[in-house]
Amino acid sequence: MRPNPHRGRVYRRCACRGADGKQLGARCPKLTNARHGTWTYAVDLPTLDRSKTMRRGGFSTKAEASAALTNVLQYERAGVSIDDAETVADYLHRWFEAKAPTRKPNTVNRYRAYLTTISSPRSARSASRASTTSTSPSSSAASSTPGAAW
Ligand SMILES: [Zn+2]
Repeated sequence: MRPNPHRGRVYRRCACRGADGKQLGARCPKLTNARHGTWTYAVDLPTLDRSKTMRRGGFSTKAEASAALTNVLQYERAGVSIDDAETVADYLHRWFEAKAPTRKPNTVNRYRAYLTTISSPRSARSASRASTTSTSPSSSAASSTPGAAW
């Protein structure tokens, strides 16, 4: 099943209340001011038991809310828990990107060193494969052009 990029909604809302005491949400007139309210995503998840719509707010940018929505949809596709097509290294890198801004520099450096260690076997393997494929065409090209020997 292909992912549907149009699923879910990203919008700005706030916690202002109207005369009836209910939150105005996305209907607040002050939302014409870009600094008012926060970004929120909502997505219908048929797999959820109680409410079919998942809402999360408090994002400071539309991009953050969209990224979070994308993550939710990815998890849903993978069967909620974790995307099994994702390698552990990829997962940790994604986790690192999400956590790094809120961690102390020393902690971030330690994480980064660890990630480099666990990621290097894969990059080393692809690098050696790349050098193997790049040397064989050039050696065959040299043998198939006798004119170069003259
Ligand atoms: Zn408001």
